[in-house]
Amino acid sequence: METYKCNVCGMAVNASCANCNEPLINDSISLDDGSSVQVSRCPKCEGKIKSPMCCGNDMTCSV
Ligand SMILES: [Zn+2]
Ligand SMILES: [Zn+2]
Repeated sequence: METYKCNVCGMAVNASCANCNEPLINDSISLDDGSSVQVSRCPKCEGKIKSPMCCGNDMTCSV
């Protein structure tokens, strides 16, 4: 299971796609304004969500 962890407070989140029961993989997408956003992507259905945030920072993926 993919786990996201906050480096500040240590909170951890298990992220998976409820449709596919697949662990999400860490990815990033580029926005129109040139910035990039860290996202969690499902390898099966290609669904994407914004990576979880904690303490004002993107939580880091441990894998
Ligand atoms: Zn935190
Ligand atoms: Zn999926």
